[in-house]
Amino acid sequence: MKPAHLRIFPDPILRKKTQPVTSFDRSLLKLIARLVRVMKSQPHGIGIAAPQIGVLKAVAVVDVSKRDPKAKRLVLVNPVILERREPEARKEGCMSLPDYTAFLKRHKWVRFRWQDERGKHHEKISAGIEAVCVEHEVDHLSGVLFIDHVTCLKTDLFPRISAS
Ligand SMILES: [Zn+2]
Repeated sequence: MKPAHLRIFPDPILRKKTQPVTSFDRSLLKLIARLVRVMKSQPHGIGIAAPQIGVLKAVAVVDVSKRDPKAKRLVLVNPVILERREPEARKEGCMSLPDYTAFLKRHKWVRFRWQDERGKHHEKISAGIEAVCVEHEVDHLSGVLFIDHVTCLKTDLFPRISAS
């Protein structure tokens, strides 16, 4: 197996839909470990989805502890967003589009369910940066990128160099 590396837009794999995970085995644990390693290697890494390392499985990792010290790492297998509330515009970026950030509509609050690495089901409500990150990573699992939510390229998309 080739070592995991970050796929960068416009790599076509970022546009593909993932398959649900059905076997909770050693290969899943290896995939999760590779995702965590690649996420941690990036200075802005607070979340990663399997297509970003070229794997079309419904697996993502969210770890916003860089921004919110109370947050714990979430390993999301087969995640589904059940409810979103309180839309708000937030500035956002993506490791696979390293040159841009954008203002786009996310939500202050999301309720979602997922399975952990052993297949156990969980449900949670997240708020703030964690909610945004969950929305962003779940989008990746369907081939959706944050730039797809940008309504006006002229006013809402910025080169990262001008971002604070
Ligand atoms: Zn991303």
